[in-house]
Amino acid sequence: MIYLDHAATTPLHPAAFEAMLPYLKDNFGNPSSLHHLGKAAKFAVEEARESVANLLNARPAEIVLNSGATEGNNHALKGIAARLQGKGKHIVSTQIEHDATLHPLLQLEKAGFEITFVGVDENGVVRLDELENSLRADTILVSVMHANNELGTLQPIAEIGRLCRARGIVFHCDACQSVGHIPVDVKALNVDLLTLSAHKFYGAKGAGALYIRRGVRLDALIEGGHQQKGRRAGTENVASLVAMGAACQLAREAITRGDEARVAALRQRLIAGIENGVSGAHLNGHRVQRVPGIANFSFEGIEGEGLILELDARAGVCASTGSACAAGSLDPSPVLLAIGLENGLARAGTRFSLGRGTTEAEIDELLRQLPEVLESLRVLSPAVRAALIGGQSDDAG
Ligand SMILES: *Cc1c(COP(=O)(O)O)cnc(C)c1O
Repeated sequence: MIYLDHAATTPLHPAAFEAMLPYLKDNFGNPSSLHHLGKAAKFAVEEARESVANLLNARPAEIVLNSGATEGNNHALKGIAARLQGKGKHIVSTQIEHDATLHPLLQLEKAGFEITFVGVDENGVVRLDELENSLRADTILVSVMHANNELGTLQPIAEIGRLCRARGIVFHCDACQSVGHIPVDVKALNVDLLTLSAHKFYGAKGAGALYIRRGVRLDALIEGGHQQKGRRAGTENVASLVAMGAACQLAREAITRGDEARVAALRQRLIAGIENGVSGAHLNGHRVQRVPGIANFSFEGIEGEGLILELDARAGVCASTGSACAAGSLDPSPVLLAIGLENGLARAGTRFSLGRGTTEAEIDELLRQLPEVLESLRVLSPAVRAALIGGQSDDAG
């Protein structure tokens, strides 16, 4: 198996796994309990909070621990909308956000908020002038992701944050694809709210955090007990949060050691290998301004979905069309449409996302197998497409 889907999820780091084990067994206390078992759990949760804060250059009190980035984004967007609706009902975001941002925003739109979705250039970088021009007196919130999950392209978050701060507009950033892979400093980035998810950087699934800058007020998303000072009710997922704390520490060490730089070098090897050895391949996203692990290609005459299935079946390669949440749909990727690709290429998007465990041998094996797999699909593709789309002719090119 060659696992190249780290942007969908990463394997749990063995040390993070070891760290969480006691909290799945003997240390099963509820962090809200007053006895020693509860106190031990509480201590572990607070350590995890501190570790997240350290990774982000934040204070522990600015970290709300939660179930992951879908929750974090919902909390940030809906919480600010509810809190500030008296001040204005205009929100600015981009055309390339993850569904975990897009769908809450569409829900807010139905509830009477006005959302401006700013476009991106051909590299997937948000148009700063368009964003600045969209800011109004009634704009209460701007939400822009740090690294795009399909392309890997990094956004000019610090600049956007400066524009927002100068106008007193709350700025939220979904940093799921950057945290744990490159340095993310909430102060340097000028963000008010920042979302992260542990399973994107070798932590366990079902754990994440929302950074809330001191002084920023928003409504809670989940009401109930008084955990986390009322900002997120519910008994904490102690073991997964402990794993996230460990993953944050491991990420700092990995970045310092150059492990992520090695991932970036392997990504470059893959890009060069495809561009030199595969005909009809188009690299999507910014060439330089991107996170270490992600490379996205459109192959002419190929459906992304078909390629993923064939790579898996023939070569044991796990890749993705981009968004795990959109898997199973044959619609062109909205992100690839936003960077200006025509329908055919936008349906062809294939994301290879590398991780710290990826080896040079794996990349070379993929490069060896890819031309054959593409060739077999190009021969089959009209029939495959017809079968998949139910016999309709199409313009997939
Ligand atoms: C994975 C991801 C999410 C969702 O995170 P979960 O913790 O799985 O809910 C949100 N935004 C981006 C950019 C992601 O990559």
